[in-house]
Amino acid sequence: MTADSSHSKYSQSIQAFAEAGRFIPGGVDSPVRAFGGVDNDPLFIKSASGSKITDIDGNEYIDYVCSWGPMILGHAHPAVIDAVHKAADNGTSFGAPTLAETTLARKIASHFDSIDKVRLVSSGTEAVMTAIRLARAFTKRDLIVKMVGCYHGHSDCLLAAAGSGLAENAIASCAGVPDQIAGLTIVIPYNDIDAAKAALQKHKGRIAAIFVEPIAANMGAIPPLPGYLQALRRLCDEEGSLLVFDEVISGFRVALGGAQQLYGIKPDITTLGKIIGGGLPAAALGARSEIMDMLAPVGPAYQAGTLSGNPLATAAAIATLEILEQQDTYKKLESSSATLARGLADAAKEAGVPVTINRVGSILSCFFTDKPVQTFDDVQATDIARFKKYFSLMLEHGIYLAPSAYEAMFVSLAHTDSDIEKTIEAAQLGFRTLIK
Ligand code: PMP
Repeated sequence: MTADSSHSKYSQSIQAFAEAGRFIPGGVDSPVRAFGGVDNDPLFIKSASGSKITDIDGNEYIDYVCSWGPMILGHAHPAVIDAVHKAADNGTSFGAPTLAETTLARKIASHFDSIDKVRLVSSGTEAVMTAIRLARAFTKRDLIVKMVGCYHGHSDCLLAAAGSGLAENAIASCAGVPDQIAGLTIVIPYNDIDAAKAALQKHKGRIAAIFVEPIAANMGAIPPLPGYLQALRRLCDEEGSLLVFDEVISGFRVALGGAQQLYGIKPDITTLGKIIGGGLPAAALGARSEIMDMLAPVGPAYQAGTLSGNPLATAAAIATLEILEQQDTYKKLESSSATLARGLADAAKEAGVPVTINRVGSILSCFFTDKPVQTFDDVQATDIARFKKYFSLMLEHGIYLAPSAYEAMFVSLAHTDSDIEKTIEAAQLGFRTLIK
C-alpha cells in the first residue's frame, strides 16, 4: 500500500491513516498497530465478528491477531456482548466495590494454585508495574531481572536493555527512561539458566524478583526449554527472590490455570491481562495472601485505580471465563491450532521454504529459518524480509496476521475448520510466491 494508491482496495484505510496522523502521533494509539514492522499502512477496522475482521474498505479477513490475544472466544461473542449490555444498563462506573469484582477474583483464584488473592487493574502494564512494587516491598530488595525479548508493558523499569557485560545493570532502551531507573533491572537472555544463575550470583541478596513470560510470546512464540522454568523456581528459592510469571498472554490461553498449570510450576506472583478482560480493559495480579496483603489499604505498598474492577470489563471477563470453563474448550483450541501448524509446515515444505514453527496450544509462530528458535537472537537471525512479503501475501489472500515478525498468531474458538483450511491454502499460495 502506498499513499497515492487511491484505487487500491485499501484506499479508505490509507486515507484514514493520513488523517489520523494529523491528530494522533503516528496515527495510532499503540505503535505496533502502525504496520511499521511490515513497511505498510495499517488497516482501519470497522467491525469484527467470530473469526473475521472487516476493514473500513469492506475487506474481510480471517483474524489471527485477535486483538493481540484477548479474543479467545472470537469477536463479539453473544454471551460477552450481552453481559456488557446488561452491565452498562446499570451504570458504567461507580468507584465503589461491586459483587462482580469478588466473583471474578474468586474465579481467577480457583484456577491458579499460586493465587489466594487478586487485585484488578486496567492494563497488563499496570499489573506488572504493581508486581514490581509488590516484589520490592515484600523482599525489601530493589533489583529485578528480566529476559531479552520478553515484554511486560511500557513501565520505566522494563524498558531496559542489557548492559555491556554479563548480568550488568541495564541501560534504558527508550527515550525518557532514566538510566538510573533502568539500572535497577538486570537483563539476561531467555531460556538461559546459566545467565540467570550468574545474575543472582553477581547481585547476591539484591534481586527482588525474576520476571519472565513462562511462554515467551512477544518475540514470536518461544516455549520454555525443558527444565528452564523449574530451574528458575529453584534459583529463586535458593536466593530468596520472588518468581513472577507474566501470564498476560498465557493466562487462560494455554489452560485455565495458564502456563503454570501446563508446566506444573508455582510462581510467587502472577500477572494476567488480555483474556481476563474479555476484550475490555481489565488485567490483574495475584499471589498468596502474605504477598498480596502488602498492598494498600492493608499493607504499605500503594496502588490504586479509578476504573479498576470496572463493571463492564468485569462483566465481560466473567462471561468469557464461564465459556472457557466449559468442557473441551482447550482440547478444541489444541486441535485446530495443531491442524493449522501442521498445514503451514507442510505447505512450506512443499514449496521449499525453510520455516520453523513454534507452538504452545493456540499461540504459534512461523519463523523463516531452518534453525530452532529459542532466544531473541534466534528470532533476529530469521529472514525478516521474507516475513514481510509473506505478511502482504497473506493479507492479499484474506488472512490478517500480526504485522511484525516479532509477534505470535492466536487461534480462537471461533476459528472453524474451514477458516483453518482457507488459511493453509493461502499459505500454500504465499509460500510458492515467496520462492519465485
Ligand atoms: N505483559 C505481556 C506478556 C504482554 O504481552 C503485554 C502486552 N502485549 C503486557 C504485559 C502489557 O499489557 P498491556 O498492553 O495491557 O498494558
